Amino acid sequence: MSIVLPSWFDAAFAEVNAAFAAGRLAHGILIHEDPGAGGLELARWIAQRVNCSDASRAPCGECQSCKWIAAGQHPDVTPLSPEGESAQILIQAVRDLAADLALTAHGRGYKVAIVWPAEAMNVFAANALLKTLEEPPARTVVLLVTSQPSRLLATLRSRCSRLRLTGPSRHEAAEYLASARGAGPWEDALAATGSGPFALIDADPAALADLRADTLRTLRDVGSGNVQPPAVADKWARGELSTRLACVESWVTDRILESTSIRDVTHLSGSGLAPNICHLFELSDAVRDMRKLSHTSINKAMAVEALLWRWARSSEGKTSGSRA
Ligand SMILES: [Zn+2]
Repeated sequence: MSIVLPSWFDAAFAEVNAAFAAGRLAHGILIHEDPGAGGLELARWIAQRVNCSDASRAPCGECQSCKWIAAGQHPDVTPLSPEGESAQILIQAVRDLAADLALTAHGRGYKVAIVWPAEAMNVFAANALLKTLEEPPARTVVLLVTSQPSRLLATLRSRCSRLRLTGPSRHEAAEYLASARGAGPWEDALAATGSGPFALIDADPAALADLRADTLRTLRDVGSGNVQPPAVADKWARGELSTRLACVESWVTDRILESTSIRDVTHLSGSGLAPNICHLFELSDAVRDMRKLSHTSINKAMAVEALLWRWARSSEGKTSGSRA
């Protein structure tokens, strides 16, 4: 079976292919992916591209090298990610990697390191990697995968060539997931997280779609005054809070995009939510702040309640404003 790659990888493939064929593949490549677009998969594909035994159709997906890389077992391809409890990639791991990259490849291809997510490197680790990129051993490629390149050291970014991986449309993402995982409410599941398809590759789409429907129902009921925030804050805080916040953020983002692209927001009132754009931006900021805090020890129920009161008040203002 040869490799079938998502269509939205095409532009990035073409760029890597051209650079490799011309013998000017950079030693450091920063893959800037939209969240869930598949940066890690693209990195593995590049590792296969430069190590495949069949030059005429690399990566073939069938040779020993391609199979080993797909299985994560190739001796010349080293993944570097946070280990154990740590959320960071530490300096010792980078030093070990640098020592390994300095050795000759086992095969006839390249030594490849895949750092994912690259922003997990702490400043010491990033500086250690910078040294390797300043004097890279021959036939080595370091692939840094991130959806937040601004969180990397500027000096590290400047040592890498950029490869942009733009995510697919929601419809295209849903089609991809249906072919990879089977039928399911993928569009709703994608809308629940606001991420690309690779973030959902192991997810239960029905559970996500249900959670989204429940979350949006609550927003509507709170906005119309039918439900008081204290009645639902506990339920939100107890389980799936981060997914619920992602649902709200993704819903708000969709509404903002709709209202700024069509300018006529009257049809939005059909959803029963009828927000105006300022309130959407306010809610978006509030949700984003709360998502950052939701991993800390804040009182989650109180924070949810405050968020929903804010939403209730702005919806009220909207109702009286539109009557005026
Ligand atoms: Zn191959």
